[in-house]
Amino acid sequence: MLRTFSLGIFFTLTVFLCRCSLAQNNNSQMNIPIQNPYYSRTDTTALHVSDAEWKKILSPDVYHIAREKGTEWAFTGKFYKTEERGDYYCAVCGNHLFRSDAKFASSCGWPSFFEAARPNSVTYLPDYSHGMNRTEVQCSRCGSHLGHIFDDGPAPTHKRFCMNSAVLDFVPSNK
Ligand code: FE
Repeated sequence: MLRTFSLGIFFTLTVFLCRCSLAQNNNSQMNIPIQNPYYSRTDTTALHVSDAEWKKILSPDVYHIAREKGTEWAFTGKFYKTEERGDYYCAVCGNHLFRSDAKFASSCGWPSFFEAARPNSVTYLPDYSHGMNRTEVQCSRCGSHLGHIFDDGPAPTHKRFCMNSAVLDFVPSNK
């Protein structure tokens, strides 16, 4: 009786330890980013961080768009239909980029804004890639690629900041 009970305890402990070990392996395989020491919603000091360093910190999806100038598929981003009031920050560094007041329903499939939160929130660069003549929008604090700006937005600016959801963090006004 005692032997059966001991064997039962041993078996239960073995199963429990194996499950813990598997959970740890799954976490390391899911590329969960380590804590980002550069992220701040209050510090506006420009960052000079290498892509090798960002690659250790950011998730693969965010790294691809932010540091390799990638683009998420239209109509797939988490914010293109968001109408909630709040503020949008750079998902890489926490820089304040846009307010929901400047967001508008665009049919392009990406979150669209007619102005940045501050004139120096973003930086503009000519982009001639893919045979096109566009203006790239980068975060002015960390230099990450955010998207592009076009001249077909609504009044009062008539600009359309066409952004990738993956490089935006949204904080609702009531939180
Ligand atoms: Fe940034």
